[in-house]
Amino acid sequence: MSTRTGKRTAVIGGGMAGTAAAKKLIASGRDVVIYESADGLGGRARSWKRPEIEPQVGINLMYVSFYSQMTRLIKEYALENELMKLSSDIYISDHGQAVPLSPDSALSPLTYRHVGLRDRLRFLRTTVNQVRNKSRIDFFDPIKAAQLDDGLSAAEWGYQQMSRRGFDYMLRPQVEGFWNFASEDVSSVHARGLLAWMGGSGFYVFRDGMQIITERNARGADVRLAHEVTDVRMTGTELEVTAGRAGGDPVTESFDELVLATPAPIAAKLTASLPAEVVGDETRQFLESQRYEPALSVSFLVDVGTLPSEAHIVAGGPGDQPLRNMITYPRTVRDEQGRPVDKLLVFAYPGRENTRRLLGLPQEEQFAAVAPLLKTLWSDFSGEAEPFQIAERPYGFPIPAPGRYRQAVRVMEQQGSPVVFAGDYFNSPTTEAALLSGFRAGDALTGAR
Ligand SMILES: Cc1cc2nc3c(=O)[nH]c(=O)nc-3n(C[C@H](O)[C@H](O)[C@H](O)COP(=O)(O)OP(=O)(O)OC[C@H]3O[C@@H](n4cnc5c(N)ncnc54)[C@H](O)[C@@H]3O)c2cc1C
Repeated sequence: MSTRTGKRTAVIGGGMAGTAAAKKLIASGRDVVIYESADGLGGRARSWKRPEIEPQVGINLMYVSFYSQMTRLIKEYALENELMKLSSDIYISDHGQAVPLSPDSALSPLTYRHVGLRDRLRFLRTTVNQVRNKSRIDFFDPIKAAQLDDGLSAAEWGYQQMSRRGFDYMLRPQVEGFWNFASEDVSSVHARGLLAWMGGSGFYVFRDGMQIITERNARGADVRLAHEVTDVRMTGTELEVTAGRAGGDPVTESFDELVLATPAPIAAKLTASLPAEVVGDETRQFLESQRYEPALSVSFLVDVGTLPSEAHIVAGGPGDQPLRNMITYPRTVRDEQGRPVDKLLVFAYPGRENTRRLLGLPQEEQFAAVAPLLKTLWSDFSGEAEPFQIAERPYGFPIPAPGRYRQAVRVMEQQGSPVVFAGDYFNSPTTEAALLSGFRAGDALTGAR
């Protein structure tokens, strides 16, 4: 049981980071209000619901067995039965010709046909070296990762380990298939972390979407959904938060403390009027300098057999690709007569240029532009792609630029009452990193750090 402190804390943003901070603050006895502009918690980890498919699992956010914060929460909230295991089969495509590259078996890289034997051996050697250093290469935790963040990009580092083709067809597709940023733009720590941690891991999705974690984290808070914060001001020692509501007048409330858990550019804008004693220059510069790759998830239903099931099919090769990744899941769909039909649900993620071009267009145009691209990853695909669902994430993936982990650590050290920041932009674009950042922000306010 926590003792009430009488302190009122506002958390702006109800994603993984905001609700993790809220959990800590509630436990410390604070009265917590969460403002969330969407009509549900979860942020980028929020799924969609379509009752005509079974299992319903919407947007395919994955929990990986090495996520330690999330593993702890799954146990605490007894969510083990919500998890559905996925196969981690990865195929890398070279102009539509896709061959398997499993992170789980040493044999798979050895027989991988897109590159020569020398590069396969170099890839294995590089992987073994990263696994040996696993405890230091933690891309969820900037405090650990910063020591290795020596200014090299993932591409510069990768080209030192193997030939250009080796990197472009073995490691680049894994960095860029999971996230939509260029290996030239991200710290080498990101690529090293992937190699160190991926092998032997279990991949899961939550039956009804990962937002269940945020809903449990937020228990005990006063959650204000569909409240978009438009202004934050300081009057004396009070922090005034103004939020707009659809169809209602804006409301302003006063708080003792604040957690900003929105994407960095929004956090920078909302806190622009706060004095330098509250948001220091380095923190402000850090927030303002964060860049994001947007994400567009376009899903289709296709006939079973036209693509491999439960597979990640990822584009290999240098530069941007028309389609960077597609992920396939078996699903049962009810037809118009209510009869069950087995289908594959295919999530397709366009490359960087296509994503920027298609974001915000009418959905028919988005479906029509992406459907023909499926063949660029799997040239034998000849089935019909039936449009199903689209999810847009304008702030998709914060880019962990070379040196950013180091900067993040300095900013984290300066965090303290009355205003703190949390989000995946402190570490890596994963729910695990967002949770860790939120817990740390909570600790920075309560003094538990
Ligand atoms: C397509 C895609 C696939 C991904 N796949 C995976 C995966 O498989 N596994 C994984 O671990 N991670 C994955 N991620 C990354 C993961 O989703 C994010 O790292 C994580 O959810 C970020 O959490 P956050 O709390 O930092 O930010 P967010 O989830 O963005 O939360 C911020 C919240 O602030 C709210 N907000 C913004 N402005 C305001 C305002 N003015 N007032 C009130 N509220 C506001 C937003 O609505 C949002 O709910 C994926 C991301 C994308 C885009």
